[in-house]
Amino acid sequence: MDEFALINAYFRSLSQRLGGAPSDLGIGDDCALVSVPPGKQLAVTTDTLIEGVHFPRDTDPADIGYKALAVNLSDLAAMGAAPAWFTLCLTLPVCSSEWLERFCQGMGELMQQRPVALIGGDTTRGALSLSIQAMGLVDQGRALLRSGARPHDDIYVSGVIGEAGIGLQIVQQQLPVTDQAMQVAVQHLNRPQPRIVLGQALVGLATACIDVSDGLLADLGHILERSGVGARIDPERVPVAVALHNDVLLKQLGWQDGSRSAVQLFALSAGDDYELCFTAPPSQRGAIDQLAQRLDIPLTRIGVITETPGLLNVASGEAISTRRGYTHF
Ligand code: ADP
Ligand code: MG
Repeated sequence: MDEFALINAYFRSLSQRLGGAPSDLGIGDDCALVSVPPGKQLAVTTDTLIEGVHFPRDTDPADIGYKALAVNLSDLAAMGAAPAWFTLCLTLPVCSSEWLERFCQGMGELMQQRPVALIGGDTTRGALSLSIQAMGLVDQGRALLRSGARPHDDIYVSGVIGEAGIGLQIVQQQLPVTDQAMQVAVQHLNRPQPRIVLGQALVGLATACIDVSDGLLADLGHILERSGVGARIDPERVPVAVALHNDVLLKQLGWQDGSRSAVQLFALSAGDDYELCFTAPPSQRGAIDQLAQRLDIPLTRIGVITETPGLLNVASGEAISTRRGYTHF
C-alpha cells in the first residue's frame, strides 16, 4: 500500500466529526483551511510520542492512538479551550494494516466522546513516533493561563493522583494485574481522560490552570514560577490511587521500607495523570464545590498561594522540591 492509499484507507474516517466547529477544508489538499469564529481565539498545542520513551515497545496500537490524542486534548482542557481540529504526523517502520486499524480504532474511541476532527498530517517511514497538533477555540482573552495565580488563592487538583505512576510500575515490572485497583491504575496509564468539560467550566472561576503531565509538584511549580508567587500545600490531602494503599503490591515493587509519606510523595511526583491543577479565590469555593458535584469529579483543595516564593508543607513547615517531575534532559 502506498502512502496515499494508506491515508485514504485509515485517516479519512477520522476526519468525519460528530458536530462542533466545522473545517472549511480537511484532508486531501496541500493545507487544511479553518475559520476562527469572531470573538474567539485559536489555542494551539503539540505533543510527540516516541516508542521506548513515551510508551513501551509492545504497547497496543489502540492505546497509542488513544493516548496520543488524549494528551493533546488535555493541554486544550488546561487552557479552557473547546477542542476543534487536529493534525497527525506519523512515522512508521512498516505499513501494517493490522497496526493501523488498531491505532485508528483507539483514536476513534476517544473521538466518539469529543467533537474533534482530523484535518491533515504527514506520513513517513522510520522509527515509530507520532506528533499531534491540536487546535481549540476559547473566548477572546478568557483562556486559563499559568500566570494568573494570586496570593490567598486556593489551590485545587481534580480527580486522583498517582494512578498512571503506579500503573507504569505495574507494566514495567510485568506484575500480574490481580485486583480492581491495579486494573484502574493501568487503565489510567493507557487511557487517560482529558478533563475537557472541566477545563471549559473553569473559565471565569479559576485564576490559573495547568494539566498534570510531569507530576503534580512539578506542574504546580510551573504555575508558581509563571505567576511569581509561592504556595503552602498539605500533601496528605491529595487523593492518591487506591493501588498505592495496597501493601502487598508495594512490597512486590520493592517498597516495603517506604513510609506513607514517601508513597504520597511518589504519587505527587509521578507524571501522566492528566488531571487539572488550578487556583481560584476563596470567594469561588461554593461554585467549585457545585461544579464538582455537577460533573461528578472530585475537586480537592490542597493548599493556598502565598506571596513568598517557594513551596512549603503546611503540616511540617518544611520546603518541598518542585523539581521531582519527569524531564527529558
Ligand atoms: P504534501 O506532499 O503536500 O505534504 P502529503 O502527500 O504529505 O501532502 O499529504 C496529502 C494529504 O494527506 C494532505 O492533505 C495531508 O494533510 C494528508 N495527510 C497525510 N498524512 C496524514 C496523516 N497521517 N493523517 C491525516 N492526514 C494526512
Ligand atoms: Mg507531506
